[in-house]
Amino acid sequence: MRKKIVAGNWKMNKNLNDGIQLIKEIIDLTNSEVIEDVEIIIAPPFIHLNKAVELLKNNKSIGVSAQNCNQFESGAYTGEISAQMLSSIGVKYVILGHSERRAYFNETNETLALKVAIALKNNLIPIYCCGETLKQRESGMHFNIIDEQINDGLFNLTESDFRKVIIAYEPVWAIGTGVNAKPEEAQEMHSHIRELIIKGYGKSVGDDTSILYGGSCNHSNAAVLFANHDVDGGLIGGASLKSRDFVEIIKARMNK
Ligand code: PEP
Repeated sequence: MRKKIVAGNWKMNKNLNDGIQLIKEIIDLTNSEVIEDVEIIIAPPFIHLNKAVELLKNNKSIGVSAQNCNQFESGAYTGEISAQMLSSIGVKYVILGHSERRAYFNETNETLALKVAIALKNNLIPIYCCGETLKQRESGMHFNIIDEQINDGLFNLTESDFRKVIIAYEPVWAIGTGVNAKPEEAQEMHSHIRELIIKGYGKSVGDDTSILYGGSCNHSNAAVLFANHDVDGGLIGGASLKSRDFVEIIKARMNK
């Protein structure tokens, strides 16, 4: 069944103390207000993960995600973190293919296919990001770019593995810019992605896949974005760093 999901990508923000504080605030707010029917995910930096899992161990609504993992099992990859390490401390999700990693760390669809596979092998749920640049959209290439990112990064999976994946459509021009996709632009691309999945894996898989929108989503625009039939939730950057804003976004998802 398709799930409603709101995930917060903290990126490289918050030291450990500030991160703990934010997690405690999110726990308090989500406990004191009725939050139903929405899966909440937080993706803090690596050094926070152990503590985040500990703070959330009795919390059934909020899961912990990493922002990346390496594509190999283990070995001489200085500075890297493996999927197995994340899984061993109780992390449940991993964001893969964020546009910042594609742009600044040269992650290709081929590398990402390896990362997705190793994440799944270690029982991590990939949150697989795709998105076009402004130039690609303006030249009318946006559907092709998304098709390529999804085909090459995900379509080698078996159906049962594909069913575990969450997809996040994040137009690069909307990330951190304050300019979100118009609700109809988000719906158009989400429905395109769902059709692509239906072609690849059949209707039931397509209907069941959660497709999140990301890119300058905040408490003011979340409700109109989430009101679209194929927008199942959000991957939230900047607005996930303030507990009240993040919880308002979660509530916007719940009510639709
Ligand atoms: C993101 O980086 O995943 C993101 C959606 O960022 P923002 O919400 O800040 O645009």
